[in-house]
Amino acid sequence: MAETDIAPIVTTRRDETVSFLQRVVSKGLGWARKYSLFTYPYATACCGMEYMSVAGGRHDLARFGAEYPRFSPRQADMLLVTGTINLKQAPILKRVYEQMCEPKWVVAFGVCASSGGFYDNYAVLQGIDRIIPVDVYIPGCPPRPEQVLDAILLLQEKIGGQVHKIADKGQPNPTAARHDLLASMNK
Ligand code: SF4
Repeated sequence: MAETDIAPIVTTRRDETVSFLQRVVSKGLGWARKYSLFTYPYATACCGMEYMSVAGGRHDLARFGAEYPRFSPRQADMLLVTGTINLKQAPILKRVYEQMCEPKWVVAFGVCASSGGFYDNYAVLQGIDRIIPVDVYIPGCPPRPEQVLDAILLLQEKIGGQVHKIADKGQPNPTAARHDLLASMNK
């Protein structure tokens, strides 16, 4: 056991103040971010139609602040992968993900994106989590709109509970760390 493990934690008033302010800022930023999701719909197959139905007036994704599709990755923070991703598409999807700024979140929409679905063959990626990190998986072929709304609520809960900093000076890049982890798992 290291000596520091048994040393009492000493905090100064400055530390406590900074920690308090960080908590307040984090809560505020989390609240703002979870209700202003800008979607990049990466639609490749039939699940794309289901996304359109969720975004339409009947199910009204706008109620959750996530109705704006953005077709530039640099303007989006939620990557919604809707449909089958084959091996030719995989590098393109990865590039789109890498072009998005932090913070960003990924939703696997439908079984094809989540696990390859029933396309258990050499041409289809068996789940997008083999190349990019995924925050929420939506099962179903295709998923019902209610499932998609449930996933958005789940993601919002996750975003609200995350630590949001004003600046991450000197902190390791979380995307790079996740890629290192994925690369080590795929070896
Ligand atoms: S999960 Fe079903 S509906 Fe969605 S892309 Fe795959 S085959 Fe099509």
